[in-house]
Amino acid sequence: MKLSTLSFALILAFSGLAQAQSQAQATLPASSEPTAFTMSSGTERTPEQLAMLFENADLSLKLDPQTRSVSGNAVLSFKANAELKRLVLELDKNLRIESVSVNGKALANGAISNPEGRLFLNLSQPLQKGEVAEVSVRYQGVPRIAKRAPWDGGFVWSQTASGAPWIASAVQGEGCDLFWPCIDHPMGKPKLMRLHITVPSPLVVAGNGIAQGVDEKDGWRTYHWQIKHPSTYGIAMNVGPYELLEDSYQSRFGNRIALKMWHLPGNQEKAKHLMIEFAPMLDFFESKFGPYPFGDEKMGVVETPHLGMEHQTINAYGNEYKKSPHGYDWLLHHEFAHEWFGNQMTNQNWDDFWLHEGFASYMQPLYLQYLRGERDYQVGMHEQRLRIVNKFPMVTGRSMSEKEVANGPGNDVYFKGSHILHTLRGQIGDDAFFKAVRLLIYGRNDPKPGNFSPRYSTTKEFIQIVNQITKKEWNWFFKAYLMHAALPELLSKRDGNVLKLEWKLPDGSEFPLPVEVSVNNKIVRVAMEKGKGQIQLPVHATFTIDPAAKLLRHEPQIEAWIADVQAKARLARAVK
Ligand SMILES: [Zn+2]
Repeated sequence: MKLSTLSFALILAFSGLAQAQSQAQATLPASSEPTAFTMSSGTERTPEQLAMLFENADLSLKLDPQTRSVSGNAVLSFKANAELKRLVLELDKNLRIESVSVNGKALANGAISNPEGRLFLNLSQPLQKGEVAEVSVRYQGVPRIAKRAPWDGGFVWSQTASGAPWIASAVQGEGCDLFWPCIDHPMGKPKLMRLHITVPSPLVVAGNGIAQGVDEKDGWRTYHWQIKHPSTYGIAMNVGPYELLEDSYQSRFGNRIALKMWHLPGNQEKAKHLMIEFAPMLDFFESKFGPYPFGDEKMGVVETPHLGMEHQTINAYGNEYKKSPHGYDWLLHHEFAHEWFGNQMTNQNWDDFWLHEGFASYMQPLYLQYLRGERDYQVGMHEQRLRIVNKFPMVTGRSMSEKEVANGPGNDVYFKGSHILHTLRGQIGDDAFFKAVRLLIYGRNDPKPGNFSPRYSTTKEFIQIVNQITKKEWNWFFKAYLMHAALPELLSKRDGNVLKLEWKLPDGSEFPLPVEVSVNNKIVRVAMEKGKGQIQLPVHATFTIDPAAKLLRHEPQIEAWIADVQAKARLARAVK
């Protein structure tokens, strides 16, 4: 989640909240702005990081709402797959490091350096290939305060209506290194993570994975949680005077899934209502694709002071229990989709971000088709179509940070991505489409609880999967839509009794995408070999090109509408 534009009402609601927060923060210590390096997520890893296999992370973190500070001890174990003279982690340099030890031996101060948020730890003796190092980092400080979570991330130190602390973290764009030492790259996942979060009693911590109990001492509570294969930005702090609703879901795969919803006091009825949506959402994903990937942990949702984020097994939910005109909570659905597209299948590099957001965004219209049929599916697609801007290519083939993608193709990664999938599905049919997406998610076509684990993927792999399943070559299709900013244009010309069609691509390459034409209410499929085709029209025939809206293509009427909306928005801003 991180759409960069919202409805006007939502933007207003958010700016009001930010204002209230900044007033409350006036008397508290401000967080210092991290370096550009720390603010970026997914910077290419160093050779040392590439040689460090992240085994386990054990993070103890004390959150103090009074001072908005954290103090932590991260115990991280890495296995070397080459000789390592130093270890390289990442941590915001504004968090002061108190000590570092490796395999129980303290590192000298001179062996620790963190000039810009990249933490170098020089080892007194090199780690040999196959050896494991257990690194313990003690640190404390004031982590970055989010300016506008989840888009501009960090910690949110909010309060409930009754004045209780209500805390959240959201760091998708900036990365895990804003508050714990990690490898801030999509491929920096540990195999297992234990969390011990300490907060003032009686606050509640809604955590990732499985609850392992609570200790209480001297007015502080420590909540213990444990999660397997967490995505790096999926680790989140969620603290409040929460109440918990629990239920379970009998999966079609035979397992029973724990359902947990942490909500603020006073919202129990609304939260119960939201929970009614959990079962149909689960059934949709499980029937279309396969098992909920974290069925042995939980489906978790927590009410947050920001709009939302796909934190693994503890989805941040801040949509104020509102349903869309389609009668469902689109935000919950979108974040939940990321358990499949983002947390189970993770992009190897942010350059492939559309594998998270394009797929997760396609899930909402697809859910509407499952729930309500064709009208709501097509309306859902059209709502997204109006938000495609085509300013930047979606995939560059180079290593990209999350911010570079957000500031480049931005929302196109969501809605253009969704439309590419819609178009692909129309061409290859449901059988091949769902098989391809299943392979992308699970790496196998027969996923069952226990026979798969989280995996990484790439755009290239998805194209290979589609080629393999359809026994056809689709590289031209993906290249046209993903590597060019502008959309393919379908030129049409009626020449007497002949309708001529031609695809036009910015680089002039061929685009042999078949086109349906309705001629006197009968569908004719034009093969478009070499990107061109023509059909005979009877005298006085009426015709409609692509009558079922199966194709993503340049549409001048939509461009004109978007330009008009943008001009009005600019004018409104200028008048303010
Ligand atoms: Zn998303």
